Amino acid sequence: FEPAEAEPLTIYLAAPRGFCAGVDRAIQIVELALAKYGAPVYVRHEIVHNRYVVENLRSKGAIFVEELDEIPDTEAPIVFSAHGVPKSVPEEASRRNMFHLDATCPLVTKVHVEAQRQFLSGNEVLLIGHEGHPEVVGTMGQLPEGAVTLIETVEDARTFTPRDPEMLACTTQTTLSVDDTKEILEALKARFPALRVPTKDDICYATTNRQEAVKSIAPKCDRMIVVGSPNSSNSQRLVEVALRAGCPQAVLLQGVQEIDWDMFDGIGSLGITAGASAPEVLVDEIIDAFRARFRADVETVTTAQENISFKLPRPLRENAAS
Ligand code: SF4
Repeated sequence: FEPAEAEPLTIYLAAPRGFCAGVDRAIQIVELALAKYGAPVYVRHEIVHNRYVVENLRSKGAIFVEELDEIPDTEAPIVFSAHGVPKSVPEEASRRNMFHLDATCPLVTKVHVEAQRQFLSGNEVLLIGHEGHPEVVGTMGQLPEGAVTLIETVEDARTFTPRDPEMLACTTQTTLSVDDTKEILEALKARFPALRVPTKDDICYATTNRQEAVKSIAPKCDRMIVVGSPNSSNSQRLVEVALRAGCPQAVLLQGVQEIDWDMFDGIGSLGITAGASAPEVLVDEIIDAFRARFRADVETVTTAQENISFKLPRPLRENAAS
């Protein structure tokens, strides 16, 4: 039913949005582990940063912990989250004879490998990222304590003092703002021309594509909704990208229940996207809520096609095929 007085609204739906291949794989790992080994399956840290996903897996028998010392001696599988873990974590799991399955996104593992390679070549390793984010903790934890210097801002890039400016390498978190990272890398390269950098940066395809899609719709949107959790780095970046690209107001919402309708009073256009860890059902619920209040037309704006998928860990492969 459509209220007679409903105002028209164009909803621009950014594509790609939502689940990336790394998130999809991580969730599948927990689900397949539950199916194969039964509950409980322990998961170290939120498997992906999304409350809906975590609650859903919890209801199926997953137990979420922050550290391995919260897990009793058990034969149940332990899954490491998509963000990656410091080396000490699998070491500790092996020491305790825990059966562990690694859901670290292969694109995060790639950064781990690169950081180690640069370190072993004698370089001082810089990591562009956000302090405290589990991916940053995991990447820094691939190397001995103090071996990685975290660069968070252009200011850090301008003030950092290297051990030897000729022996410097840089890696990045996968879920950063493409534009901010470019600026930081440029500031570093201007000071240290010998800096070894990844071909582009380590920001993953999913982060890049979601930011591009938001940029393309932001200038024509009166408001932007980013569906995602507050602790999701790539979702937070989408809010910033929308604002910078010309959308007057953008908001991060975990779901339909968080909509503050005053913010959408009198608008004619709305952009919607979702972070890489946010399921599509949450987007659908938000669209339905707008359809109930506006005469809404939904237009999908596609800026890239994605057809990436990653292999599952060996113990789960045959189950996925059956
Ligand atoms: Fe992997 Fe990128 Fe998805 Fe993170 S956002 S899980 S790095 S594909």
